[in-house]
Amino acid sequence: MLDSMMNSVARDRMPRRKSLLFYCPKCLRSFTLKGNRNRHYKYECGHEPRFKCPYCKLKSKQTSQIYSHIRKKHPYKTVCVIDLKR
Ligand SMILES: [Zn+2]
Ligand SMILES: [Zn+2]
Repeated sequence: MLDSMMNSVARDRMPRRKSLLFYCPKCLRSFTLKGNRNRHYKYECGHEPRFKCPYCKLKSKQTSQIYSHIRKKHPYKTVCVIDLKR
């Protein structure tokens, strides 16, 4: 009993390991995984979403997201995207 109390006190005194975060140097968004940060920095950060739903304001970087969005939110409309870069 006493032992376990001592142990828990000792554990609480241990310096907590701060969970290390990786920051995007451009927008300072934080990521728990370095790989996610790198992918964001390379492919996402500063890139405007290129595709837009023709029926509402939704924008996305991937056409597949728009397609599934239209199937869900605009089930009676034709599935298509507006390419903003053209
Ligand atoms: Zn960023
Ligand atoms: Zn939409």
